[in-house]
Amino acid sequence: MSVYHFPAPFEKEHLLGCLMRYVLPQGRKEYVKVAKRVSSNVSKVNSNSYWQSVYTDILKQYLPKYHHQLALNNTLLNVYTSLIESDFSTVLAEQVKYPSKLQLKHANLEQVHKGWKWCPECIFDDEGECGVAYWHCEHQFPLKKRCTKHGALLLSGCQSCGFAWSSILQGPGPSASCPKCGSTFSERHREDSYDDLWIERSANGILNGSLKFDKNKVKECFKVQYGFGEFKRQWSVAERKQIRDQQDLFGNWIDSLNLLNHLTPLPNGRNNSEHPAFNVSTYVFKSYDYAPIIHLLFSRYCREVLC
Ligand SMILES: [Zn+2]
Ligand SMILES: [Zn+2]
Repeated sequence: MSVYHFPAPFEKEHLLGCLMRYVLPQGRKEYVKVAKRVSSNVSKVNSNSYWQSVYTDILKQYLPKYHHQLALNNTLLNVYTSLIESDFSTVLAEQVKYPSKLQLKHANLEQVHKGWKWCPECIFDDEGECGVAYWHCEHQFPLKKRCTKHGALLLSGCQSCGFAWSSILQGPGPSASCPKCGSTFSERHREDSYDDLWIERSANGILNGSLKFDKNKVKECFKVQYGFGEFKRQWSVAERKQIRDQQDLFGNWIDSLNLLNHLTPLPNGRNNSEHPAFNVSTYVFKSYDYAPIIHLLFSRYCREVLC
């Protein structure tokens, strides 16, 4: 439903932050009640998704004038649009109509955080500049592990008690200390590997639009290696061997990368290459809505090894 004086987002604020700021002045007691008036989908949020039903509910506050611009600037839907090479308006219209429809194949491949992510240094900047800390849109991108502005590792939970902002009903966030146990959120440190830095750079490129995926070029590259370019129901023995060889080469390459901070470990310590997401012939011959990391890895392999 539409409510009065719903706030406009800050620059780079995630759309969800507007709901948080709308309910903030209502006081703790009214908090849940007010949040539920805006959306019935507030009980569960996470950053493992480009779109959730709650965004549609919030976006409705801005219909019919500003919702397009806000969806473009204050959600990650444009990232998804660039991956599927579709038109933003079409994708947005579809999401508003069917908010639960957007599901990426192999979304569980990526090591994502339990709750929403924030930068411990941005909290102080936001409070100084806007009077309140808020959820930054780009921090919620699964490939982002560091804040672009400060370089700090993004946090997603309390190291003392495990608290995470995985529901709006847990209260507004982010804050400098844990709302559950009171301990201060301090910066974490990590030595980034070459591959960590590469993924961070690529994530920034995807977010600012400078990195585009040319899926067809990657597919062409593989087809040249295969020696054939069509999907068939029946493969000859020679073709089968060719596919297997390509798969082995790609698999060995994937396993040589340091992706501990990005991929969810497979059970029993199995290799990353055994994950179905890295099936070369599926990537080449079928068109799926893959998670960004899959496109990244295939494009890099094509650039560094095949071409
Ligand atoms: Zn920051
Ligand atoms: Zn805590």
